[in-house]
Amino acid sequence: MDDPGYFDEGDLVAVLTAQPLDRLLDYKAPEGGCFQGAFVEVPLGPRKVLGVVWGPGRGDYDRSKIRSVIRVLDVAPMRAEMQSFLGRAADYTLTPMSAMLRLATRAPGLGEPPSMRKIYRLGDTTPDRMTKARTRVLEALRDYGGLAFTLKELAEMAGVTPSVVKGLAKQGAVREEDSPRDLPFPHLDPDLPGKVLTEDQQVGADALRAAIRSGRYGTTLLKGVTGSGKTEVYLEAVAEALRMGRQALVLLPEIALTAEFLTRVEARFGARPAEWHSGATMTERRRIWRMVGQGEAQLVVGARSALFLPFRNLGLIIVDEEHDTSYKQEDGVLYNARDMAVLRAAICGARVVLASATPSLESWANAEAGKYDRLELTARFGAAVLPEMRAIDMRTEKMPAASWISPSLRQTVTDRLGKGEQSLLFINRRGYAPVTLCRACGQQIGCDHCDARMVEHRFLKRLMCHQCGETKPIPEICPSCKAEDRLAPVGPGIERLAEEAEATFPDAKIAVLSSDMFGSARALKAKIEEIAEGDADIVIGTQLVAKGHNFPNLTLVGVIDADLGLQGSDLRAAERTFQLMRQVAGRAGRAERPGTALLQSFQPEHPVIRAILSGDETGFWKAEAAERQAAGVPPFGRMAGIVLSGTDAGQVFDLGNAMARNDMAIRQIGAQVFGPAPAPIARIRGRHRVRLLVKAPKGAALQEAISRWIAPLRLKGDLRLSVDVDPQSFY
Ligand SMILES: [Zn+2]
Ligand SMILES: [Zn+2]
Repeated sequence: MDDPGYFDEGDLVAVLTAQPLDRLLDYKAPEGGCFQGAFVEVPLGPRKVLGVVWGPGRGDYDRSKIRSVIRVLDVAPMRAEMQSFLGRAADYTLTPMSAMLRLATRAPGLGEPPSMRKIYRLGDTTPDRMTKARTRVLEALRDYGGLAFTLKELAEMAGVTPSVVKGLAKQGAVREEDSPRDLPFPHLDPDLPGKVLTEDQQVGADALRAAIRSGRYGTTLLKGVTGSGKTEVYLEAVAEALRMGRQALVLLPEIALTAEFLTRVEARFGARPAEWHSGATMTERRRIWRMVGQGEAQLVVGARSALFLPFRNLGLIIVDEEHDTSYKQEDGVLYNARDMAVLRAAICGARVVLASATPSLESWANAEAGKYDRLELTARFGAAVLPEMRAIDMRTEKMPAASWISPSLRQTVTDRLGKGEQSLLFINRRGYAPVTLCRACGQQIGCDHCDARMVEHRFLKRLMCHQCGETKPIPEICPSCKAEDRLAPVGPGIERLAEEAEATFPDAKIAVLSSDMFGSARALKAKIEEIAEGDADIVIGTQLVAKGHNFPNLTLVGVIDADLGLQGSDLRAAERTFQLMRQVAGRAGRAERPGTALLQSFQPEHPVIRAILSGDETGFWKAEAAERQAAGVPPFGRMAGIVLSGTDAGQVFDLGNAMARNDMAIRQIGAQVFGPAPAPIARIRGRHRVRLLVKAPKGAALQEAISRWIAPLRLKGDLRLSVDVDPQSFY
């Protein structure tokens, strides 16, 4: 073994596999040797599994019993920086390495050799006879321009059997071609002319370009109100990274809704980037994984898991809408993509840009402390200004029973209808009504498996549990007292608000935007485009509409329940309400028309509502920071949530109590354990849940202490323990 990164045939190597084993396994390097980081196939019992050569073997087993690596896979070896990233991310999130490796190899068929496959694209002849199925195939192909698909993909997209596609291919209406499985991505040209930037944007773009040219790690908080041109500015940073021959990654929260974004990228660089998200086909995932590793994908636009792609020379990570809660993965490996982006960039000498109109308090505090650079964009495009914001004091409005649109709001919407302008009515609640109550016995219909109420979804004609997804038909008799026709919806959801709007504004064209009302991301995208083009007088929407869509004709936002987010016990409740309200209000009045945002509230004097209305962001962040500092909670202290669960409530509590008694490891670092207490949702899918919270001073070695604390535990039966470092939500 001359080269430290190379192992000769027969040398002992330690291999990390994605199997749930808590250690590396020793193997002998195969014929021809292998590099450190090589992806390999190894025998494990009777099976063959995927693994990565992690380093030299330990050699503490009987050498004669050690088996050989079966073969080295034909993909680029894992780079040392990726090994380091996975190791440090595992330490930070207290995740086993095998689970980290699974995150980093989420592409099928890595072991297969490059091969050819049949693909299908639009042909140039018309079929002799059209059927509905045939029309669907041709329409699907036309929808995607010149793109080609595998037989299975195309048949699935069109909802037809493969024989329909084959039939069209025989006639030449669809062309069948041979194609290598994994093609490089088209070249992106950073030197095409970008959009003309305003002075403000130019200053921001110059600063980011200079930072990227330095080739060193650093993080910039790019703050700008909706419409201030954040995207244009950070696309110039992407251009600079590409010029330097480095790769760039843009993370977006709502990946299904990026059509508008991809169009902008294409306009800027002349081709589409690689798109990594859960909706991508298996074929596409495999192609991206390989091409990213070979440096033949310059730019990836993706969801949070794109952070674990094997970039060869990553120079820039953009985290757009960095405050968005969807960056926190809440099951499996519990990580926050924003924080992991910073970790990854620090390891590979890349720049991070955190973009937001309403940054998280964490990022705000890091910028205040000088850890992050800060860039602020103020001017909006054109002459438009931020909307005028006012509260409607619901205590003084005359509200008929079961109605939620106040007379003041109704009047303003009517005024907009008269002018031919769009209004948005916002409520952050899916379904028809959050509670279904029996008026005979007072019982609320709950989920059979969770401590959660069932939410009526009239659109789906079902009751649904938002915790576990369980649905059941809306009953006609009360399950508790058997009274007939006494069940009544209580409170508004988006569907009920839509019903009220239809009755209040009978002549208006109303569009409802809620993620669960569309069968596919494509259908939703089409609806949003229709609305943007003016094909609705009133838009009724959930959180979905807050996320960066452009509705140029929209001049009024009415928030139905501005108090909704303030009720939780979550330490981030105020921050989230502030961000959400600012984002929603930002939908009003783009282009040249000024907008108005009206917030219906029963507590307009609440400090958060007042801060939203006054637009005094700095004041809000300072007050919020001071409160958290006084309480010693994030970002001024550290927290971890430990959730214990099991089918036997007694056992779960016993374990929690035992942990709380034996908390020496935690006390040693000056931290405290709170609980055990029933988790805010005390039962999910039939499992009882108990929570312990650990609160530690900033700078304490929290993960290490937790590891020592939980290491001696032996979980009996179906008991489970999960650790959430830096929890984002508390359920
Ligand atoms: Zn009843
Ligand atoms: Zn449930």
